[in-house]
Amino acid sequence: MAVIKFDTPIQFIKGVGPKLGERFKDLGLFTVQDLLDWYPRAYEDRRAARSIASLKPDELVSLRAEVVNVKSFMLGRSRRKVYDLTVRDETGKIHCKFFRVPYKGYFERFQPLQKVRVIGKVTHYRGQIEFHHPDVQDDTPDLVVDDDVVIPIYPETEGLTNRQLRKLIGFVLDELKASSRELDPRAKGFVPMDRLPAWLKDKYELVDRFQALEKVHRPPKDATKDFTDLKSPYHRRLIFEEFFWLELWLASRKEGVAREPGLPFEKRTDMVTKLRASLPFELTGAQLRTFEEILKDLTGHTPPHPMHRLVQGDVGSGKTLVALMAALVAIENGYQATLMVPTEILAEQHFRTAEKLLSPLGVQVGLFTGSLKSSERAQAQSLLAQGAIQLAVGTHALIEDAVGFKNLGLVIIDEQHRFGVHQRARLKEKGVSPHFLVMTATPIPRTLAMTVYGDLDVSQIDELPKGRSPIQTRAGYESHRPKMIEFVRTHLNAGRQAYFVYPLVEESEKIDLKNAMTEFETLKKQFPEFELGLLHGRMKPDEKEHVMREFRDGRFQILVATTVIEVGVDVPNANVMVIEHAERFGLSQLHQLRGRVGRGSHKSFCLLMMGHAVSDEARTRLKVMEETTDGFVISERDLEIRGPGEFLGTRQSGLPGFKLANIVRDARILQESRDAALEVFRRDSRLSAAEHKWLRLQLLDKHGPASLAGIG
Ligand code: ADP
Ligand code: MG
Repeated sequence: MAVIKFDTPIQFIKGVGPKLGERFKDLGLFTVQDLLDWYPRAYEDRRAARSIASLKPDELVSLRAEVVNVKSFMLGRSRRKVYDLTVRDETGKIHCKFFRVPYKGYFERFQPLQKVRVIGKVTHYRGQIEFHHPDVQDDTPDLVVDDDVVIPIYPETEGLTNRQLRKLIGFVLDELKASSRELDPRAKGFVPMDRLPAWLKDKYELVDRFQALEKVHRPPKDATKDFTDLKSPYHRRLIFEEFFWLELWLASRKEGVAREPGLPFEKRTDMVTKLRASLPFELTGAQLRTFEEILKDLTGHTPPHPMHRLVQGDVGSGKTLVALMAALVAIENGYQATLMVPTEILAEQHFRTAEKLLSPLGVQVGLFTGSLKSSERAQAQSLLAQGAIQLAVGTHALIEDAVGFKNLGLVIIDEQHRFGVHQRARLKEKGVSPHFLVMTATPIPRTLAMTVYGDLDVSQIDELPKGRSPIQTRAGYESHRPKMIEFVRTHLNAGRQAYFVYPLVEESEKIDLKNAMTEFETLKKQFPEFELGLLHGRMKPDEKEHVMREFRDGRFQILVATTVIEVGVDVPNANVMVIEHAERFGLSQLHQLRGRVGRGSHKSFCLLMMGHAVSDEARTRLKVMEETTDGFVISERDLEIRGPGEFLGTRQSGLPGFKLANIVRDARILQESRDAALEVFRRDSRLSAAEHKWLRLQLLDKHGPASLAGIG
């Protein structure tokens, strides 16, 4: 049999064959290298078998138990099916809950009295402890293959048992060790399994990669708690590397951008000066600083290269104005600028703001949305192509093929997390190396920003305009409703306006949530002396815009809405936000919604109304909302509560999944890996040194030739 190498296909390993090989392929594992990178996600420590009665919340534990039964039921009224596997030992019972089925037939495996091992994190839920999505495995006698006491636990997979994986990986490790050829750098066709340069391993105190792999797959008998908590030096080495390859790639892109030829903007700021003079307020220090940073990107480099900057600023921090100032610099240099936003309401709003502020300066602004009439659209497109429209504000309608610019110099994307990578790229492609500015109000914890935005420069508007008092937030139950209604009434009587936000548009699926439509009628009766408007996602764009305009103009006092108002809407006179069924919303959404008030000089309030069945987690969320209005604090807490996977959701799918690394737990290592990646380029900006050969190769392997194009 051939010697096993790192690039040997798994199916050629002795005892595997095509059939089993297929199962590995389903997991995305093709080669020996892939197999070794399939890390255990926990360890079962048999030296300290646990009894159910001794479990405490938040512990990662393993225990042996027997199945009592498996049941499924609907969760609350949400129609989510939950599976509940109950197990017991001599000391007690515990529920293992599953909110999705790991794979087809998973629950059919379990019979009453069956012996199982359960490995998972103990969760505290409504006053009792249980497991959510633990690993549950047959505890058949042959599971114990040797006298190991600390057993690696691999992610649960269909058709591959933990034991099979342990045996196979153990075999591969032995073979690799025996075949000196693989580890001898003088051998022909040698590809090192350890691609990190020596200086980097020294500096960051990283152990040898093979040694790390051996240890994590074959825990030592005297493994410490650090080890089983995935905090050993061996784990650190592998975690570091997972982050490092991502950071190296991001750093290479940053390096590439720094070399790309850009547009020769001059430092022309007459229009900006005029704009500032026309404002009824002073810019905040943070707005000025951010603008200076942008100006430096646009005009301060010889030779010029494209700006690639993210502006992060909490809701209401005044990002729009900074964006318009940047646009003016482009326009004064004779280029066009464009501002893309995620919704029509927001596009309209930005268009109106831009027109109001920029048309006195002689700037022509155009609006591009999907609901333009075809004649309007044709006209706007032709004005844009001729260069008559200098600033194009719009939705993703801007990226349609028919939309062309004469000389696009600056691309601005607002609420950028709402757009996919490709949408952003397509807008950029409408110009030749245009400057690129993205803005977001969704505060992302620093650690996460490093992974998602590692190739961007970041400005933070970390200061709100003067005179804003913090929004006061209270969570309340149904019993508080009469008081809440009176509270709202007091503010309406004082001339203010209020929002009522509901999670659903229509009574669908018999869910008895209060919903915008029926509650609209109820509220009308409760506030007979006031006018109310309704806004929801099923309305046509022009209807929505009409309602928004009337609300902004004060034609009615209460806006009843679904979450369509979540992003960016700006009505300074509105100072009360009531969120119904607040427990149904995530933290960032609550924060965004709350940001619709507190935009003027009036003290503002956010009332979070809770339904009946409120989970501990939801209660924690609402408590966070009561305690702080700082978007960054909120996002950190959100990340803690939900964990990275959930936090990012599907929108941020640009982010790679990590196998072993966890951006919350391993934030320190992430920071180190980023430092290391930046240092690589400081030392050797083209990765041309011999010791960096394998870094180059790694970028090529993982991201293709394009990843090296920028750095030459
Ligand atoms: P966001 O950062 O959430 O996009 P906006 O750009 O919508 O915030 O600004 C929120 C409100 O604050 C707007 O009404 C805007 O005119 C106002 N604003 C912006 N900058 C200042 C400032 N320096 N002083 C006072 N008000 C400001
Ligand atoms: Mg905004």
